Amino acid sequence: YMVNAINCYMLFALLNLLSVQVMLRCFVSRCFLTNPVAGQTRKMSGGSLAGSPSSLAGKVAIVTASTDGIGLAAAQALGQRGAHVVVSSRRQSNVDKAVAQLQSEKIQVTGTTCNVGKSEDRERLVNMTVEHCGGIDILVSNAAVNPFFGNIMDSTAAVWDKILDVNVKAAFLMTQLVVPHMEKRGGGSVVFVSSVAGYQPMQALGPYSVSKTALLGLTRALAPELAQSHIRVNCVAPGVIKTRFSQALWQDEDIVDEFKKQLSIKRVGEPEEIGGVIAFLCSKDASYITGETITVTGGMSCRL
Ligand code: NAP
Repeated sequence: YMVNAINCYMLFALLNLLSVQVMLRCFVSRCFLTNPVAGQTRKMSGGSLAGSPSSLAGKVAIVTASTDGIGLAAAQALGQRGAHVVVSSRRQSNVDKAVAQLQSEKIQVTGTTCNVGKSEDRERLVNMTVEHCGGIDILVSNAAVNPFFGNIMDSTAAVWDKILDVNVKAAFLMTQLVVPHMEKRGGGSVVFVSSVAGYQPMQALGPYSVSKTALLGLTRALAPELAQSHIRVNCVAPGVIKTRFSQALWQDEDIVDEFKKQLSIKRVGEPEEIGGVIAFLCSKDASYITGETITVTGGMSCRL
């Protein structure tokens, strides 16, 4: 009787173990079948980096204000990873120069003029991209202006209108224009270019700094809504980067020395050091990142 009872108990335990295993297997396979993000991570597009999650082969990327500085570096980084990049800025001569440079680096590129503050320019940029490249997967919204230096209390309504129109509203309106095209491709990625000034307003750059803080909020506001369409929305906040825009800062040794006190890496950054982070955020390597801002500042402390 004892032997029979032990045998029955062991059989029961074995059956239990088997049913737990079957349940686990069903659960795991159901996850991969029903979760489109989990499914997507297993498929890779072609191209020289095919098989690498950093590949952007087959992707089409619009980068605004991309004929110089950080925008051009972002276009380079995306292009080096296999994306077809669409570069633009206000001046045709700058567009021609940037297109020639990227072509000489064997990057697939199309160029056009676009002042992001003008609705007809934004629409033309998006329509031209869809016509020439067949769709849109990536938007890097990089354009910004700063027409005002001084005490914030001296800034005028016209200054605020210009800064908010170009730095914030145009970033949103570009996103609104590209989203239907990203949805047609089954998803996409948007990256805004903010600034360390968005965390800690810079002296004499009050309205500009506020516009950069707004982009941190825009990133967080858009991310949950667009996740339903498999579109990720992220942001980079550069510190002081060596470009024409910031030359008043890095050309003055006293200002640079003052900045260095706040830095762990004791130098000004290079545009390529922002471009690479933007390309990372657009790639499958970042497939589970949305609503985030990556600060790229050489270690400057950034807190709101
Ligand atoms: P940059 O080197 O001076 O380049 C500016 C680019 O923007 C040029 O290609 C310019 O070409 C284009 N542009 C200017 N206004 C435009 C407009 N309304 N519409 C379209 N294109 C326009 O500047 P950057 O330093 O790379 O700045 C790029 C972004 O990084 C900005 O959002 C800036 O706020 C941010 N950022 C820069 C730093 C820094 O230290 N450099 C730090 C933090 C954040 P055209 O003249 O032909 O239009």
